[in-house]
Amino acid sequence: MKENKVPYKIYLDESEMPEKWYNVRSDMTIKPPPLIHPGTRQPMTAAELEGVFCAELVRQELDDNTAYFAIPEEILSFYKMYRPSPLVRAYCLEEKLDTPAKIYYKFEGNNTSGSHKLNSAIAQAYYAKKQGLVGLTTETGAGQWGTALSMACSYLGIDLEVFMVKGSYEQKPYRREVMRTFGAKVTPSPSDQTGIGQKMRAEFPNTSGSLGCAISEAVEKAVTTEGYRYVLGSVLNQVLLHQSIIGLETKAALDKFDIRPDIIIGCAGGGSNLGGLIAPFMGEKLRGEGDYRIIAVEPASCPSLTRGKFAYDFCDTGMICPLAKMYTLGSAFIPSPNHAGGLRYHGMSTTLSQLYDDGHMEAVAITQNEVFTAAVEFARVEGLIPAPESSHAIKVAIDEAKKCKETGEAKTILFGLSGTGYFDLGAYQQYHDETLSDYIPSDEDLAKGFANIP
Ligand SMILES: *Cc1c(COP(=O)(O)O)cnc(C)c1O
Repeated sequence: MKENKVPYKIYLDESEMPEKWYNVRSDMTIKPPPLIHPGTRQPMTAAELEGVFCAELVRQELDDNTAYFAIPEEILSFYKMYRPSPLVRAYCLEEKLDTPAKIYYKFEGNNTSGSHKLNSAIAQAYYAKKQGLVGLTTETGAGQWGTALSMACSYLGIDLEVFMVKGSYEQKPYRREVMRTFGAKVTPSPSDQTGIGQKMRAEFPNTSGSLGCAISEAVEKAVTTEGYRYVLGSVLNQVLLHQSIIGLETKAALDKFDIRPDIIIGCAGGGSNLGGLIAPFMGEKLRGEGDYRIIAVEPASCPSLTRGKFAYDFCDTGMICPLAKMYTLGSAFIPSPNHAGGLRYHGMSTTLSQLYDDGHMEAVAITQNEVFTAAVEFARVEGLIPAPESSHAIKVAIDEAKKCKETGEAKTILFGLSGTGYFDLGAYQQYHDETLSDYIPSDEDLAKGFANIP
């Protein structure tokens, strides 16, 4: 049996690490539509975007044609502290499920920030430093992005101010302390430091905040502070570009054993880990060189792909950011307070939205108790506590493996394990205490969000 030759972990040597990021847009015949200026409603120019973002990142954002971008030496050496990340053959899970399927996962949680977000954080901080900036602002919800960016900024010696959704700020004190350990200033959002924050606090005194509001605050702070720019941890094209390292490493490792996945699964919040994992595979698919079934998994409580509208919408609550054409639930949409599993952004990467709309990938929405059931099942056999976000992918991978058991097909299933769950034990506690509800928004709930789409 050839499979016996595949080790539990397929490693790449440092010398085999990809040295370029891959831009999937270069192979799309229908490109993702451009960002639109919130005032003029015209496509954003590079000059306009450079008021908010670093110049080199704007160049990456707007480039739909260059297939490969060389990864600068400094970023590569930072990557080498925690990459290549492991590609694991889930033999133990296969055995437990008694399935003929072959299951692989790419684990991005083996760095201190605990998720794939560090891959883009270091790139964005690097270009800011190179441009001579003093500091950056950003928002964070669950805290992974803020943590990753804190690590990157402290490594490069630039300042960072993080607007952290107030609910998380209060519920996740340890996340906050990791960020402060890496030198970031962490402010609960809505705060009294920005116009939009003050407005939100006046209108909704008891709000626990939202990602959309924290984005508005971070952008406002960046554009009103000399030598600062704003950075975003997901959704944008540039972030998907940096995250392509995940898929490129995965493909290089699988190629060593001539393995081609039949099904590729990832969780989707703003789309960056999924976009990164699938990038080179989607490229082959778009060029007609290979075929893969690609599945995005989202929470039923924040179902942007499966129930959202494909429309131009604001990326933030304050409506100061550019508009993006994406699958969206409306910028005012906030998932039920009982939703514990992350992936709460109202919109989806424009690139993935376009690919989905063009039929190149599928999407499913699942409820949170089934997500945690899969997480626990996985933890007990693979010995690793997954992030709730990543567990959305686990759940669907397990379902697909069970289907293989019924049909007797030995499909190869690849999924992205985007992070660890050590900072999410509060959510695990809710699951174990049986206090997690499976609230699914009604059509009326969603209609309220859609009403705000311009
Ligand atoms: C942030 C995060 C996600 C969701 O973001 P995407 O941009 O959709 O990848 C998924 N998993 C983990 C562990 C995260 O930290």
